[in-house]
Amino acid sequence: MADIQQFDNFISVAFGMKITVDGLQDFVSESLITTHREIYKKFSLGNCMLNCSRKYGHAFGKWCTVCIDWKNDLKKLNRYKNHWDRINWKEIDTIDFPHSFEEMAKVFVQDFKSVRQEVLKDLGALMSLFKNLKKYNGMFSDQTIDNVKRMRNKNFAHNYTVFLHEVEKTQSIDILITLLRVPEIRTTESSKKAIANLEYLKLNLRTPKELLQQPSAELVLTSVQQLTESSPNQIVRVFFQQRFGNMLTIRHEGSISDNIIKKRDNRKSCRLLYLPLVIFIILLVWIATVIYGQFSSFYEEHEG
Ligand SMILES: [Zn+2]
Repeated sequence: MADIQQFDNFISVAFGMKITVDGLQDFVSESLITTHREIYKKFSLGNCMLNCSRKYGHAFGKWCTVCIDWKNDLKKLNRYKNHWDRINWKEIDTIDFPHSFEEMAKVFVQDFKSVRQEVLKDLGALMSLFKNLKKYNGMFSDQTIDNVKRMRNKNFAHNYTVFLHEVEKTQSIDILITLLRVPEIRTTESSKKAIANLEYLKLNLRTPKELLQQPSAELVLTSVQQLTESSPNQIVRVFFQQRFGNMLTIRHEGSISDNIIKKRDNRKSCRLLYLPLVIFIILLVWIATVIYGQFSSFYEEHEG
């Protein structure tokens, strides 16, 4: 019989994955920027005017030289032929390659279209990138990546019970820590912070308040809420309400106060509309005072 503790274990793993994605950011962006710069230096002259990939897809013969140069150089960095042959070019914007390392990275991410958030903010997408971009091959083993992928699918994405045993929680978090402890990653600031948070998460039975207060917490809870709603186990919805009902109320009130702020801003703009009228009245009063002043001195002179 599953209990609320097992639901809490599931929540901890969900938070653990988000912490890991945040922890990988320094490493991922630094290494992708380096790769991007190396290619950019070669082809810094000229820009694509057509967005060849979207326009022509796999008909590479019609692509402009800039897009072809980028594609050919990226192909050299790709590890698996299978992956390369299946890239859906119509969903990539080669026109953005010269100024976006994120767009360039999509080439190495399998099914990036299914990622709802930004590609580099998704754990599954990052694992795909690590596997397909050759430069990461020497940095960490395929097993490290496969363990993360398997854990994510089994314990989170395809876990329709929305429950986890204590042992599964600990194993999952250990797998994430192993990834962040890879020598090239562990020296980055974002990774150090993430490892500390994961250790903290492992020791606590429930999600620590500090983690719930972080801006990304809402993202995690929303994804968990979606999973609980599709779960055949009715009790998880009660558990979710019990643990995060208050937070959802706060979020709801938050949206109400957002509306108030919007109205406040509208009022401000209304006030701004009145401003010319106010200036006009002040000007009118001033002119009247000056004229009256002249007349009064005129009368004073003549009366005097
Ligand atoms: Zn082009």
